Amino acid sequence: MFYRDGIIYRSTFLEGYSGIVHGFSARRGGVSTIDYLSSLNLTGGLGDEEENVRANTEIFAKAVSKGMIGGDSAVTAHQIHSAKVRIAGPGNRGEGFSRDRGEDCDGFVTDRSGILPIVRTADCVPILMAGTKPDGSYVIAAVHAGWRGSAGGIAGVAVEKMCELGCVRDTIRAAVGTHIRQCCYEVRQDFVDSVSEARDPGFAARHIARENGKYRADLAGMNLEILNEAGVSPDRVDVSPFCTACRPDEFFSHRASGGKRGTMGAGIAIISRT
Ligand SMILES: [Zn+2]
Repeated sequence: MFYRDGIIYRSTFLEGYSGIVHGFSARRGGVSTIDYLSSLNLTGGLGDEEENVRANTEIFAKAVSKGMIGGDSAVTAHQIHSAKVRIAGPGNRGEGFSRDRGEDCDGFVTDRSGILPIVRTADCVPILMAGTKPDGSYVIAAVHAGWRGSAGGIAGVAVEKMCELGCVRDTIRAAVGTHIRQCCYEVRQDFVDSVSEARDPGFAARHIARENGKYRADLAGMNLEILNEAGVSPDRVDVSPFCTACRPDEFFSHRASGGKRGTMGAGIAIISRT
């Protein structure tokens, strides 16, 4: 279940792992003052001052970790709507915050403590995951899944990378954060064709409804199927009940704002070893 905790949202599924902290931001609690970025915008280059983005990242990191770690532990990358996931370590701390970003990607996996991978979204799907190794230590993931990444199977790629680091597959739990849901995600024929091509026509038919000549895509459904294929069954996946485009007062939404918007963050970190 998702619930609000101050300026962020958390999933009770991930809180079952006591050595992990995680959170999904919304719009409130930041320092950005321009109306469409107000106020917790986490991405530079959208019209915000760099120092605002840095201050917001600090605020977000503290909120996620209940004050235990700050923005200098954050790791962000330029996101490219791919299925590329990087394994991050202590050497990546501060990327995109206090130093240059590393290689472009749309997800991070780590088994090291004290680093906070953050993915950023404004309608796309943020996914946070955690699981354990046989010795009880943690492996975590943060994933940005737009429709290309969703159909491209990035959630499954992240699961495989977690298992490469030693995670036991059937310990993995996932939280699918707030994104544009099927109620508001109208798409065109070219979208249907692209999803069919990226995956297969059956996948497209299962997750894109057609009604009165209009198509609506279900990004959560796509990711639930991809995760299930990777061995993470739906009963281990928590899905946010909210929709960014239904609530542009609460969440940044690319669609609802016509593209003039900030971004939200989803971050996760290992705080203690077990
Ligand atoms: Zn909606």
